[in-house]
Amino acid sequence: MRISSQDLYQQSQKHMPGGVNSPVRAFQSVGGTPVFINNAKGAYLYSVEQKAYIDLVCSWGAVILGHADQQQINDIQQQLVQGLSYGAPTEAELQMAKKIQEFMPGAEKVRMTNSGTEAVMSAIRLARGVTGRNRILKFTGTYHGHADALLVQSGSGGLTLGIPNSAGVTTHAVEDTLTASFNDANEAEQVFQQYAGTIAAVIIEPIAGNMGFVRATPDFLQRLRELCDLHKSLLIFDEVMTGFRVASGGVQELVGIRPDITTLGKVIGGGLPVGALTGSAEIMDHLAPSGPVYQAGTLSGNPVAMRSGLAVLQQIQDAPDFYTQLNQQSLYLTQGLKQLAEHYGLPLLTDSAGGMWGFFFTKSARVTNLAEVQQADQHLFRQFFHHMLELGVYLPPSMFEACFISRCHDRHIMDTVLNKAEDALKALRSARP
Ligand code: PLP
Repeated sequence: MRISSQDLYQQSQKHMPGGVNSPVRAFQSVGGTPVFINNAKGAYLYSVEQKAYIDLVCSWGAVILGHADQQQINDIQQQLVQGLSYGAPTEAELQMAKKIQEFMPGAEKVRMTNSGTEAVMSAIRLARGVTGRNRILKFTGTYHGHADALLVQSGSGGLTLGIPNSAGVTTHAVEDTLTASFNDANEAEQVFQQYAGTIAAVIIEPIAGNMGFVRATPDFLQRLRELCDLHKSLLIFDEVMTGFRVASGGVQELVGIRPDITTLGKVIGGGLPVGALTGSAEIMDHLAPSGPVYQAGTLSGNPVAMRSGLAVLQQIQDAPDFYTQLNQQSLYLTQGLKQLAEHYGLPLLTDSAGGMWGFFFTKSARVTNLAEVQQADQHLFRQFFHHMLELGVYLPPSMFEACFISRCHDRHIMDTVLNKAEDALKALRSARP
């Protein structure tokens, strides 16, 4: 008899903290047993029970071509027989730097890392090294990986010094982390006034995907650009999630605002562990060995990961309408969901950009920051999630995450999701008093 997700989860809990290697996978926010995946192809995940799920998580954004893409497999296989890692430079790393540059004009020099967390951690160190200042400003509800200095939540809407939101992070590690509300330019300005001359960098997810999908307004981003210029601080766009996902040049292309440093990850590894930081040559050359800011990695620029990422970026480049298609499919799905939900009397707010999208069960006309996200109906989300899971659609197991699609999510798949969503919403409606 085949092993079940239930069995595997029970065993995993005995051998791994919480039974998982990354917290959200444990389904704690929605309850129930996580689905253990055996294999995946295109838009589908297959559980160990061989139940098929339409995948709307896409490895948290990393998978944009669809699972088990044949070209990507071929390129990786070719590298596998040439060796896995050399700890010495390769042509693939140069190709990757050039490829990122072709998509992002501001990416004059690129340093590869092994995760988004590492990329952000190094970007902060770089910003501090370049400016000779200590403080950084981040925004409530954004996530920039699990480096100590960034594990900070804001106090209740206040402009406040950092308070760690994880055990093990010392107050000392976050004493230079300032926070302000997402999309609140006045608060950011007050922070700059109060801490004049001490802020090394402002870091932001220009479309947040870690409190659900919440867009920073172009005006807000422009104001941050101006504040950084005025106060000689660096602007960091954390595009680990949005880079190569919402548009070929990330959010910075959509809004026409150039940050000083960009962090990347996810899509550029195509499912293998990769991150990167990039910016002008002047800034990037502060990194060792050309400059005094130390940064390194045994597996950084790993040739297998580079071949994987290059196969993805090349295919994106070869399909001129790649993001137009993603945009159309996301819009078709989110508008369809909204119409269905309204039909069943369940107000839904949706938004999307390229292959990234999100939804909140809320009557509000807009959701612009964490406080507003928290007004959305989490109970309804949980119920919807479980209905959809039962019906074979794999949504992120938390209301505080964005959703994703890949090139393989075509109109037929979207119609299937919408049909199942209609069944789920109907069930939710009839269960309501
Ligand atoms: N930055 C953003 C915006 C992210 O969404 C994430 C992860 O989801 C990270 C950084 C951290 O990346 P990683 O999980 O690869 O360490």
